[in-house]
Amino acid sequence: MNITVDTSVCIGAGQCALVAGDLFDQDDDGIVMLLDSEPEMGLEAAARRAAALCPARAIAIAESGQS
Ligand code: SF4
Repeated sequence: MNITVDTSVCIGAGQCALVAGDLFDQDDDGIVMLLDSEPEMGLEAAARRAAALCPARAIAIAESGQS
């Protein structure tokens, strides 16, 4: 799995950091900061949840098939 975030569309809603705090944080303006673009398997479900919950669709997940 490979995660990318588009900070240009992030609206700082914070859902990502709430559901997957190991993977996402927010800067002082509330904009998403990606902490880990290639999460271990145990965090993949949280990553998918964050992507699904993000109201701005700022989180993209690519399945590598190797992680
Ligand atoms: S949930 Fe989406 S809009 Fe909200 S902070 Fe995270 S990336 Fe940004």
